[in-house]
Amino acid sequence: MSTTGIRQVKPKAEGWQQRKDAEGRPLLQFAAPRRVTKPPQHLADLTPEERVAKAKELGLPGFRAKQLAKHYFEHFTRDPERMTDLPKDGREELVASMLPNLLTEVRRLQTDGGDTIKFLWKLHDGALVESVLMRYPGRITLCVSSQAGCGMNCPFCATGQNGLTRNMSAAEIVDQVVRANEVIANGELGGKRDGDNSAERVSNIVFMGMGEPLANYKRVMQAVRTMIDKQQGLGMSARGITVSTVGLAPAIRKLTDEDIPVTFALSLHAPDDELRDEMIPVNSRWKVDEVLDAARAYFDKTGRRVSIEYALIKDMNDHPWRADLLAEKLNARGRGWVHVNPIPLNPTPGSVWDASPIAAQREFVRRLNDAGIPTTIRDTRGKEIDGACGQLVVTEEDERASADVA
Ligand code: SF4
Repeated sequence: MSTTGIRQVKPKAEGWQQRKDAEGRPLLQFAAPRRVTKPPQHLADLTPEERVAKAKELGLPGFRAKQLAKHYFEHFTRDPERMTDLPKDGREELVASMLPNLLTEVRRLQTDGGDTIKFLWKLHDGALVESVLMRYPGRITLCVSSQAGCGMNCPFCATGQNGLTRNMSAAEIVDQVVRANEVIANGELGGKRDGDNSAERVSNIVFMGMGEPLANYKRVMQAVRTMIDKQQGLGMSARGITVSTVGLAPAIRKLTDEDIPVTFALSLHAPDDELRDEMIPVNSRWKVDEVLDAARAYFDKTGRRVSIEYALIKDMNDHPWRADLLAEKLNARGRGWVHVNPIPLNPTPGSVWDASPIAAQREFVRRLNDAGIPTTIRDTRGKEIDGACGQLVVTEEDERASADVA
């Protein structure tokens, strides 16, 4: 992946030209370019039934797969030496074939007094992705990546400027959580209160790292199923998992039909098509009203209140009239089904974008609240390490660091 010359860019008002396909539509990459090798198949890519079949294929009784899952999901271990309940004979082969290494840690940045860690991972083919682990009072949240790069081409997002390298496998997504749990279990995440000896693990997942999760639908859903599987997975609560999208309406409808009550977040960023067409090129396929209808249907089916994410960018989308229009469109679809999270943009170095001034942020929030829409500015934890939303981008420095890692 080349990162030379990556810059966030402003829409056409600033001279930015959207990249177009042969038919003149904004360039969107829904499919990854052809790649030579797939990530190695891993236990977390398989359903519990498929794991049993795989163990049998290796000449072992099916229950060995269950034992292995317990080591991986509950004890976060991939070390055959520690799996003493498995017969020594054939143990290494079993681990090598069902728990291959997927993520190699390239670097780790810690901030917020040790409460936030950003990981840079190298995948088997050299692609780089990131995840951010954050301790909050009463919960530990992991922001995961679902694709290496992203094909949605949003001009304000550094990741989007780089295009899609490839979809991550379900296991590569899940492994970010297991590895984070391992870090927590080793006491490497700061901020734990003195005298608190409770066993801790990631309690909340947000799919807001690299990639558009719903563009990698099948693997993201397999990962979610594994995260919530109480018997042979991570046993997390679906409510603690937030799946976000920039608005792939057909995939939102599919997610609705899954009947898994994950928290659903729509990155709207503009209430009018005129601006949204520029800010979120996928809006050229599915307009504001269609995605809001799909979001409302998600609430109707699951009873889960939808989050609307709105990056507040100075003089771009932070106008009072846009707050009013957003409130009008949300209220037109009923009350109590949605809340809005404005996120002051975190400009990356060299960015031509600015966060909205505090006064504009407050006015935006006030107007929505006055219109009866619960609205809270979202914590932009990880700001100091470029780990906030839309900022998970691999830099040349990251690539140099990764070259030193086997
Ligand atoms: S904002 Fe999200 S969907 Fe848009 S390019 Fe960036 S990572 Fe992709």
